[in-house]
Amino acid sequence: MHGKMATMTPLCDWLQTRKARGNKLDMEGSLTARDRVGIQDFVLLDAASETAFLENLKKRFSEDLIYTYIGTLLVSVNPYKELDIYTKKQMDVYMGVNFFELPPHIYALADNAYHTMMMEMNNHFILISGESGAGKTEASKKILQFYAISCPTTSLLHSVRDRMLVSNPVLEAFGNAKTLKNDNSSRFGKYMDIQFDTEGEAVGGHILSYLLEKSRVVHQNHGERNFHIFYQLVEGGEEDLLLSLGLERNCKHYSYLIQGECANVSSINDKNDWKTVRKALSVIEFTESDLESLFGIIACVLHLGNVHFDTDTRGYATLYSNVELRWVSKLLGIHVKVLLEVLTFRKIEAKSEEVLSPFTVDHAIYARDALAKAIYGRTFTWLVNKINESLANQDSTRKTVIGLLDIYGFEVFYVNSFEQFCINYCNEKLQQLFIQLTLKSEQEEYEAEGIEWEPVQFFNNKIICDLVEEKHRGIISVLDEECLRPGDATDLTFLEKLEQKMGGHPHFITHRLADQKTRKTMERGDFRLLHYAGEVTYCVVGFIDKNNDLLYRNIKDVMRQAKNAIVRHCFASTESDSRRRPETVATQFKTSLVKLTEILMAKEAWYVRCLKSNDSKQPGRFDDALVRHQVKYLGLMEHLRVRRAGFAYRRKYELFLQRYKPLCPDTWPHWRGVPSEGVEKLVKHLGYQPDEYKMGRTKIFIRYARTLFATEDAFEIC
Ligand code: ATP
Ligand code: MG
Repeated sequence: MHGKMATMTPLCDWLQTRKARGNKLDMEGSLTARDRVGIQDFVLLDAASETAFLENLKKRFSEDLIYTYIGTLLVSVNPYKELDIYTKKQMDVYMGVNFFELPPHIYALADNAYHTMMMEMNNHFILISGESGAGKTEASKKILQFYAISCPTTSLLHSVRDRMLVSNPVLEAFGNAKTLKNDNSSRFGKYMDIQFDTEGEAVGGHILSYLLEKSRVVHQNHGERNFHIFYQLVEGGEEDLLLSLGLERNCKHYSYLIQGECANVSSINDKNDWKTVRKALSVIEFTESDLESLFGIIACVLHLGNVHFDTDTRGYATLYSNVELRWVSKLLGIHVKVLLEVLTFRKIEAKSEEVLSPFTVDHAIYARDALAKAIYGRTFTWLVNKINESLANQDSTRKTVIGLLDIYGFEVFYVNSFEQFCINYCNEKLQQLFIQLTLKSEQEEYEAEGIEWEPVQFFNNKIICDLVEEKHRGIISVLDEECLRPGDATDLTFLEKLEQKMGGHPHFITHRLADQKTRKTMERGDFRLLHYAGEVTYCVVGFIDKNNDLLYRNIKDVMRQAKNAIVRHCFASTESDSRRRPETVATQFKTSLVKLTEILMAKEAWYVRCLKSNDSKQPGRFDDALVRHQVKYLGLMEHLRVRRAGFAYRRKYELFLQRYKPLCPDTWPHWRGVPSEGVEKLVKHLGYQPDEYKMGRTKIFIRYARTLFATEDAFEIC
């Protein structure tokens, strides 16, 4: 069942279940409690209206019940407060228990995926989606903790699981930052495979990272911060370490740290976080020399930010003071003169000779920032690789995996730039994947199998994905064309090209193309996309530059000679030798997302849809309009309709027969006839009622999970 919504053991009608299994349910099972705490699976809601949906969510939220199911899909509402539901005891309660027997929980979903994987020995993934601040990263951490702590273990492999757990604080320190939406916002995408052996033990892991928002290293908007690690080092770094790195214990001293004017955040304790990261780095077994190089790089970036330039008499850039550059030179292990040259001159190759062309101050600042971004970005990739080495499992025996996808959420700021464009495009792709795997394929399957079905209408965001990514025609193509065009391409010529090509598209508008009323809400250099999750106005300034992400060749050449081992390694690739222009950032990103989609499509899917309860990060506040909007655009109502009308479980006749044939004398030990007829005999023998199942062309479809659970119980007893 490749690329299908996992449907193995979903929650079903709890009343029926209770009848069937005795009174195993907790307080959520009783009718009076139901009024108070709402219904734990939307499939059971009497009315399938949006209002009823929201009321149920709200009712549960007010009782701190943040999880609710739609079949096997888990809806989670960010409580913005610590709940006492993630203890080891809770993990034990959920391990190995059927989905419906306990209140909805992220552990139940994790456990269900795990047990299905173990039973069928196939690969799964959990897609966690929702807008920025909705709780995706928290959810992914809870799932990882569940696997690392609850799965069977032999003491030998403790270390792999410990490393898996501590990889989170390390990657968050380097890849997360405070934004206006979220104090711990992921500024990179992360897909992590957790590998299990045939005994069900978590034995290894592998992480793929996606497009880190590098521009944050040199610039932060008001109210935002740089990546956490900088503040952690400055606030928490040991005295002698800071001394050796030439750092002062004062974030305000570093111009890369103060542009957002909010170095201190009440919800963040940089000092403590530093300790956690230090410990984590030692668990991952970074060597002393790795650490020295790594901390050297963080400090070097901070010093680079304080390298300022003056204009000389000819109008060219000259160093304001060389104190900072000396530290950069020391930490990178590159001679200060060499550094100065690459920051203030560009090497131009003219025929057979090389000419040095001096920079203006603006140009020098540009080169400095480009270097800081490149060093940081490449170090991040190095870090991910290093973590992967430590999570790698050498054993070549067969393993199955559960993939966890936690990517930056959809975001809209007052000013949105290239970064938001990429992030929101990524969210479009994930929404498209969700639609394909649930709404679309589910309905197509019924059709293919000849099952009667009332189609459910839904908005397909493919039109927006195409607008962005289509070959030769999409926004990325237009942007690339402008980036590669020699001569006078600018952000504004890019906008003009967009207008020419996209004008009239229902999801695209610019200031010039807009009607008078809309025009008032835009600036001249803007284009607006009508995303599945809402309108976003993008300011084109910086698009060309950020998409090109050029670093002068002489800078690269010099970095390759750095004594700092990580820097040397990061720039050692063959890319600078090749004269071919590297792919643009947007195109690389697009390619990586296509690959990711392929990885995911080959696995069974589970979904966690995270909702943001309010915009002010306040505990206990449920903003109806905000939640309603998310419920709408995430397609939760459509998903519910498909679930309500559909079948909880389906399996190929052969597989179904193979598993359950011991339950019927006609099929045991061998059924020699056509598999579908064997299944028919089997289910008749088990007393399935006509409304409980349908026979498709190649599969049996079972409407209620309880039917299957009863069969599973019978199987276990036999
Ligand atoms: P982004 O797309 O910006 O990375 P996100 O969806 O990953 O956002 P998180 O970082 O997971 O969002 O959550 C934001 C904050 O909300 C957390 O730092 C935490 O304070 C709170 N939060 C989220 N989920 C929970 C939870 N289950 N229990 C308690 N607090 C939570
Ligand atoms: Mg996150």
